[in-house]
Amino acid sequence: MVLKRFSLSREHIIGWLKEDNDSLLKEIFDWADEVRRENVGNDVHLRGLIEISNVCRCDCLYCGLRKSNSDLKRYVMTEDEILDCTDKARQFGYGTVVLQSGESPVFTAEHIASIIRKIKAATQLAVTLSLGERDEQEYKLWKDAGADRYLLRHETSDLNLLKIIRPTSVYENRLEALRVLKRIGFEAGSGIMIGIPGQSYATVADDILQFAGLDLDMIGIGPYIPHPKTPLASMQSQIGNEQVPATELMTLKAVALTRIMCPQANIPATTALATINKESGREGALQGGANIVMPNLTPVKYRSLYEIYPAKACIDEASDQCAMCIKARILSIGRTIGKGPGGRTKCPS
Ligand code: SF4
Repeated sequence: MVLKRFSLSREHIIGWLKEDNDSLLKEIFDWADEVRRENVGNDVHLRGLIEISNVCRCDCLYCGLRKSNSDLKRYVMTEDEILDCTDKARQFGYGTVVLQSGESPVFTAEHIASIIRKIKAATQLAVTLSLGERDEQEYKLWKDAGADRYLLRHETSDLNLLKIIRPTSVYENRLEALRVLKRIGFEAGSGIMIGIPGQSYATVADDILQFAGLDLDMIGIGPYIPHPKTPLASMQSQIGNEQVPATELMTLKAVALTRIMCPQANIPATTALATINKESGREGALQGGANIVMPNLTPVKYRSLYEIYPAKACIDEASDQCAMCIKARILSIGRTIGKGPGGRTKCPS
């Protein structure tokens, strides 16, 4: 198969993001669904999410895990707990585990490497890391230990907005980290939130163009959901009617346009979408370009402590209930459950 590339201009992307005619929007969702089917097939790959610690040294203005949230009880999972979760992923037939935490040194680089080696020795699972911005030596150590993918969300391509919402992040450093990760051999992923106060339609269009420019392997897009214990929750839009709404529909439009612009990327139906529409948020994304779901494997006693945003979907469900529920939802829309790691397949351009 040869890759068919579609190129939408910035103006076209902005136009589609602003479109509210249902029959025209159906065209874009159907187009994204077709691009998804032609490029990554009907399989939905399952990545089991393990939230290994909620300790974070950063103070992102939108995030419930920010270090200034002194009301939050902090936790660090033990190695045995993490390995129990990875064994469940194997039993449930998932192809990947995602080790995610706040950005912090509570796990040393060597400890993470040792956990990766143990997962690889005991299972065939792919290992995705989402541990924040680290230095190149750490990325290399983890790659050598067997890790396959790295997620590093940048949340917005608007430099000024980034400075406000992630005061400790330097935009260029984050982009460079994504380039380094790719050079080392990781599949690299990033993502954005839709509807951050101050986010314009032009910014979202730039984000989508940047995903394509960086040739990302994984792209996560979820709605912004305010957390009451964060400063951003009380901030109002600064740009009036150019403010992007934090709605399910706007998020689905961004997912669909991203699929069209990045045909081969792995794109999750995010938990944030399932949070704002518990009935069918995931299904909507899967029918408009997405091909990945990340069921939660974190022990229930820690789930409510990993609230980047509140009222997260599946917060009380044990991991076996999550597995059954998600598989049933995938089959109900005529899709198949992916087998194996489900890494990015690259067709010749
Ligand atoms: S978004 Fe990530 S880096 Fe920022 S405060 Fe939350 S956990 Fe920490």
